[in-house]
Amino acid sequence: MNYQQKTNNLLKEQRNNWPLLAENFEGLKNVKLKTLPFEGFSFKVQYNSKRITSSAAKVDKDSIAARPCFLCANNRPMEQNQVLFEGVFDILCNPFPIFAEHFTIASLKHIPQEIGSSFGQYLDISKALPELVVFYNAPKCGASAPDHLHFQAGNTGFLPIESEYEGIRNKYGNELIVNPAFSLVTIDDGLRRMIVLESNEKEMLEWAFKPIYQFMKKLVGGEEPNLNILSWYSNQWRIIIFPRDKHRPWQYFAEGDKNILLSPASVDLGGSLITPLAKDFEKISNSDVADIMNQVCLPSELFEELCHFIKRSLK
Ligand SMILES: [Zn+2]
Repeated sequence: MNYQQKTNNLLKEQRNNWPLLAENFEGLKNVKLKTLPFEGFSFKVQYNSKRITSSAAKVDKDSIAARPCFLCANNRPMEQNQVLFEGVFDILCNPFPIFAEHFTIASLKHIPQEIGSSFGQYLDISKALPELVVFYNAPKCGASAPDHLHFQAGNTGFLPIESEYEGIRNKYGNELIVNPAFSLVTIDDGLRRMIVLESNEKEMLEWAFKPIYQFMKKLVGGEEPNLNILSWYSNQWRIIIFPRDKHRPWQYFAEGDKNILLSPASVDLGGSLITPLAKDFEKISNSDVADIMNQVCLPSELFEELCHFIKRSLK
């Protein structure tokens, strides 16, 4: 049995044997959805009250140090089972799902969330799970366990950016490198800045990721760079990298009517905005989304610099 089949079976088993998880996956059928159209793409807003813990999570150093790590095997819920991936990661079902199939892929070791040294493993996981979009949230960009290396994965066919990508690329894309074995396209769609890598050669992707990581690391004084990454595999990898600026937009901290509890991570940048509060779901508008996306993505001028740096580095 391959990893994809094992993972599908795990979810079936957990839905039968873990009542909380079963209830939360069942509850997804009742989440409210609305679509906000933009030029050539769209955002889907999902009202999902179960996600409040994640969206409002305190991820500062003291709060993290004070809680038992929920990804370490010793602290996991009793009902939680896993599929061991290559002896290094556990594939786990996410008991607070956004996707109809939603997994967390946690390192067996309690080591910091860091993509520089795990990018190759990330690619392997993505290739082994072709029915899933595998994503990475950096410690300050939505990871709810910044102290424990992990990825997440959700079923394909959910994030708007998947089906809209070709259109976005044609309308807003700038082809930095395009050859039969590899392509690198940079995109500024007016809301989001992103870099898209495509190849069937792992080494090419690792080579192209290096300067992006390096540039972003320098921006934050050598700390783990602010990135969200989506990857899916079908004959080749398609990897969408969102270089980030703000962790949370000003609306997150605003008082009264101006408050919107939205803490964007990979899924949101992929076009599915998760609002855990009904008031936000009702009121959020196109201009709010545009404003929030522009705050959390790298500003256009810096993004230009990053693109020049990549071009120079990959000559
Ligand atoms: Zn841990």
